[in-house]
Amino acid sequence: MHFTLDQEDEHFRQEVRAFLKDNLPTDLAERNRRGYHPLREDIRQWTKILNRQGWSGANWPKHWGGTGWSPVRQFIFDEECFLAGAPPVDTAGFKMIGPVIMTFGSEAMKQEYGPRILNGDVYWGQGFSEPNAGSDLGSLSTRADRVGDEYVINGRKIWTSFVETAEMIFVLVKTDPEARQRGISMILVDRKAPGVTIRPIYDIGESHSLNEVFFDDVRVPLTNLVGEEGKGWTYAKFLLENERAFSAEWPRNNANLARLRKFLNLRQADGHRLIDRPGFASRLAQLETDLLALRWLSLRALHEKAGGQSKLPVGSLLKIRGSELLQKIGELQVEALGCYASYVYPDPLGDSSLEETWAPGPDYAPGIMADYFYRRATTIYGGANEVQRTIIARSFLEL
Ligand SMILES: Cc1cc2nc3c(=O)[nH]c(=O)nc-3n(C[C@H](O)[C@H](O)[C@H](O)COP(=O)(O)OP(=O)(O)OC[C@H]3O[C@@H](n4cnc5c(N)ncnc54)[C@H](O)[C@@H]3O)c2cc1C
Repeated sequence: MHFTLDQEDEHFRQEVRAFLKDNLPTDLAERNRRGYHPLREDIRQWTKILNRQGWSGANWPKHWGGTGWSPVRQFIFDEECFLAGAPPVDTAGFKMIGPVIMTFGSEAMKQEYGPRILNGDVYWGQGFSEPNAGSDLGSLSTRADRVGDEYVINGRKIWTSFVETAEMIFVLVKTDPEARQRGISMILVDRKAPGVTIRPIYDIGESHSLNEVFFDDVRVPLTNLVGEEGKGWTYAKFLLENERAFSAEWPRNNANLARLRKFLNLRQADGHRLIDRPGFASRLAQLETDLLALRWLSLRALHEKAGGQSKLPVGSLLKIRGSELLQKIGELQVEALGCYASYVYPDPLGDSSLEETWAPGPDYAPGIMADYFYRRATTIYGGANEVQRTIIARSFLEL
C-alpha cells in the first residue's frame, strides 16, 4: 500500500484549507489553539458553520446526512481543522451515540436526533462507568424497571464528561438485574429530567469536565430505549470500538508537536534556542519518529477499514500508541517551559477568581500545564491501556 495521498486528496486538502481560512472565526481559533477544553458555545457555532457547508457529519455516510467522505478524506479534514484551531464537533454525538442511533435506533429516533446532532443542537454525555464498573463494565448496577409505558431508572454513574452542558445522556442500565451482559440495555435520558442530579468532580488541573450523575426514580418513555432490550452490550461494544479508533488523536498529536517544535525554536532571553541543546533535540527527533509512525498506522488502519480487510483490533492499537504519544509530547512541552511550567495558568475565559495566579510568561505557555494534567487520563479513558493490551494479545493468540 502507499502512504502518500493522491492528487485528488491534495486538492481536497486545499479546498478544506480555503474553507477554514474564510469561515473559521479568528477569536474561536485563538481560544482553541490553547490546551483548554473548547467552550460549548464555540463548538455549537462551529458545528452550525460546518453544517451550512454540509460538512458537520464528516464521519457520517450520505444517507445519514453526512459527507460520505472516504476515511482518508476524514483524516485530512480532521488534520486541517485541528491545525487551524477549529474546535471539534461534539465527539459523543457524532462519533459515539450518533452512529449507534443511526445503525440500531428506531426510525423515529433517527429522525429526532440525526438532524439535531448534525446542526449542533443537542449535546450528549456518556453514562457508562460507575464506581464499581469501569474496565469491568459488565458489572454495572444502575437499573431500569418497566412501569407502564415508562422506564424508571435508579443508580449512579461517574466520570461522565461534559454532561453539565449536555442536553441528553446515553446510559447503560440493567433491565434484567439477574443476567450479566445480556441484561444490559441502552437508554436515552434527558439531562434535565426530574431525578437527575449532577455533581461536579474537579480534576488536578482545577478544571471541571467530569461529573457524578445520580438517577433517582427518573422516568423516561419506553421509546427512549435504543434498539432492543438486552442488546445494550452489543451497542456499547460497537460504540467503544469507534471511540478507540479516533483516540489515536492523530490531529491533536500533530498539532501539539507543531506547537512544541515552534517554541523549541524560539530564542530565549539568553539568546539560545532550546533545540540547540542535544537533550531536547534528540527527544524531539524521537517524538517526530513516533508521530510519523502513528500517522502511518492510522492511514493503514483507514485503508484496511475502507477495504474491509482488517483482522487486527485496530482501535486498541491506535488507542495505545496515540494516548502514550500525547503524554510524551506533553512531558517535553512542560520541561521546555521550565519555570513557567510551575503554574497552572487559568483559562483566560474561565474562572476569574483564579486571576491572581496568572504568571507573566511567554504567550505560548498558557494551556500547556492544563492540557498536560488532563492528558494523564488519556491512557485510562476510552478503556484503560492495560485492558487494550489484553485485547490485542487475545487477538494475536486467537484466544
Ligand atoms: C478524564 C476521564 C474521562 C472519562 N469520561 C467518561 C465518560 O464520559 N463516560 C464514562 O462512562 N466514563 C468515562 N470515564 C471512565 C473511564 O472509562 C474509566 O475510568 C475506565 O474505563 C477505567 O475504569 P476505572 O476508572 O473504574 O478503573 P478500573 O477498571 O478500576 O481500573 C483500575 C486499574 O486496574 C487496571 N485493570 C482493570 N482491569 C484490568 C484487566 N482486566 N487487566 C489488566 N488491568 C486491569 C486498569 O488498567 C487500571 O490501571 C472517564 C475517565 C476519565 C479518567
